[in-house]
Amino acid sequence: MSPSYPALSYELYPPRNAAAEESLWTTVRRLEDTRPDFVSVTYGAAGSNRETAIDLLRRLLTETTLKPLAHLTCVGSSRTDLAAIIDRLIGGGVRGILALRGDAPDGGVQEGDVEHADGLVRLIREVEAQHTAQLAAGRVSVGVAAYATRHPDSPTVEQDIEVLLAKEAAGADFAITQVFFRSSDYASLLRRARRAGVTLPIIPGVMPLTSTRRLKKLSGLAGVDVDQVLWDRLEGARSDEERRRVGVAATVDLARAALDDGAPGIHLYTFNEHAAALDVLDALDLERPPQAGLAASL
Ligand code: FAD
Repeated sequence: MSPSYPALSYELYPPRNAAAEESLWTTVRRLEDTRPDFVSVTYGAAGSNRETAIDLLRRLLTETTLKPLAHLTCVGSSRTDLAAIIDRLIGGGVRGILALRGDAPDGGVQEGDVEHADGLVRLIREVEAQHTAQLAAGRVSVGVAAYATRHPDSPTVEQDIEVLLAKEAAGADFAITQVFFRSSDYASLLRRARRAGVTLPIIPGVMPLTSTRRLKKLSGLAGVDVDQVLWDRLEGARSDEERRRVGVAATVDLARAALDDGAPGIHLYTFNEHAAALDVLDALDLERPPQAGLAASL
């Protein structure tokens, strides 16, 4: 048996303009050097950035050695449109899809749409079944979101676990967590999920937070409470360099604790910047496959 290594992955988002695209590609190349298992590409709710997301996926597939995981959100899209985009992704060579609900800007969903991520997982599996011949060399890997702290729309963390079980039953292969700040939250998610019968690997998503501005933005976007300890440390730091050290150290501590608790790998939210992500990786000293890549260990 060949040794198994902790999975390593990064999240990228599609660039919003030409300047952002240029700097993203510097980041892509730097991250590629670390030989991650996959890089995920976000997708705007209701497909607001569909074409830039697909363009980035296409470039990753054709111009790099990276394996992309395409995020896909179901909110605000018709079932027909979703099936068409899934078909396009699989037909274009994407072999990993992260099935998400997304957050509707107006909070509404259209009648007949896929309302929740578990329904999207089922739809992906239905479309995949129409590609059986092309997929003879491997099926599509479907991921879903998990929450170490209660999802803002859920009444309880118990419901979050029920939902995770439903996603697994619908055909999900793995989960990636929303950002969290306390290692005990990830450990508790794992414990509750396993007790309820969830068997999916649950990859912790960690984000180097190197400024209070970013921390505030994240808490607004993800509905995660600002971590007061990290906030105070960042606010007390006297330079950008010190803030970066503080943010990176907090992320390394979280990632180490999660790996000690049995995490199958680490997913780094990068904000399309490589410096802090690489600092985290250096400090973590993750065991990675040999230089020649996985194929060489066949
Ligand atoms: P769901 O699993 O559908 O859950 C949403 C709410 O509905 C929860 O409160 C849940 O308890 C409840 N619920 C779920 N299923 C049911 C059901 N069958 N019946 C009744 N209630 C149910 N957003 C983007 O717009 N683009 C992205 O690219 C993106 N990437 C993300 C990546 C990761 C790793 C994570 C963790 C989140 C990401 N998000 C993204 C944010 C995500 O879309 C939001 O957190 C959203 O609010 C919920 O998505 P979900 O897939 O967990 O939804």
